[in-house]
Amino acid sequence: AKNSGRGVFRFFTTDYLKAATERRELEEDLHLAIERDEFQLYYQPVVDARTDTVVGAEALIRWIHPVKGFVSPAQFIPLAEESNLICRLGEFALRRGCSDAMQWPKSLRVAINVSPVQFAEEDFVKIVQRVLRETRLPPERLELEITESVFVSDDEKVQQIFQGLKNLGVRLALDDFGTGYSSLGYLRRSPFDKLKIDQSFIRGATEFASRNRPIVEATATMAQALSMVTTAEGVETFDQLDLVRAQRVNYVQGYIYSKPISAEEFLSRASDNWQI
Ligand code: C2E
Ligand code: CA
Ligand code: CA
Ligand code: CA
Repeated sequence: AKNSGRGVFRFFTTDYLKAATERRELEEDLHLAIERDEFQLYYQPVVDARTDTVVGAEALIRWIHPVKGFVSPAQFIPLAEESNLICRLGEFALRRGCSDAMQWPKSLRVAINVSPVQFAEEDFVKIVQRVLRETRLPPERLELEITESVFVSDDEKVQQIFQGLKNLGVRLALDDFGTGYSSLGYLRRSPFDKLKIDQSFIRGATEFASRNRPIVEATATMAQALSMVTTAEGVETFDQLDLVRAQRVNYVQGYIYSKPISAEEFLSRASDNWQI
């Protein structure tokens, strides 16, 4: 029994060390990955809930590791955020997304995820301005998706950046709404054009007596009253689609329409009035 106790402990430590080593390796690889051009942008169509028309796409980054293969952004984005590599990665996504969108029909927008860490960066607004100038993408075709966690830092500075971005003419979306430090006060002060209702609220919303349903409804109503539009994320079933339509959510993203697809595939399928 004594031995087994130590065995369990040793097992735990080696496991722990292994995880830490893997993490360090992944972090080293991440630094090389930008130079080696191992990142790709995939695009998930954003669909008008009333007309089934594609109005744009969200860019979702993919890392194709030479040995490990596909690595999920949920795994490497947090790593990149720790090492500040996220700023280079974020600028890559911004530039690539804008230049890809230049190939699409002019009616389609591109949405790019922005990490809160990029907000702390010197002159984030200037970076966006430069990318728009270089790619010639009209600013109104660019939407930046920002999570509530930006608000944990200096509020005045964040508000200034928002205003700078609005002055450029880009659109702002509040991502994963309802999951973070969401404060209605922030919402009142910040010039968001769109609220993205997190998929955790959509999931289960159609079940009997679900508490998610009134939350979806209240979010849609509030957004409307504040002159914002809404997107439902992670819609997978027809029941969920019916529900968000009934709540007058404006846009839908989810596997029911399409998973994220490669830039090539998106380009070849994109056309004016693309019904999906
Ligand atoms: P997110 O911004 O909330 O993106 C939505 C995630 O939900 C994506 O996961 C997407 O593939 C997935 N999804 C879409 N529709 C459905 C559905 O119907 N069902 C389910 N189960 N999932 C669905 P993905 O691509 O793995 O990205 C995960 C997260 O990584 C993103 O969450 C975002 O926070 C982050 N991320 C991805 N690309 C970037 C980027 O370029 N920059 C930054 N800063 N973060 C990124
Ligand atoms: Ca997003
Ligand atoms: Ca989201
Ligand atoms: Ca998310």
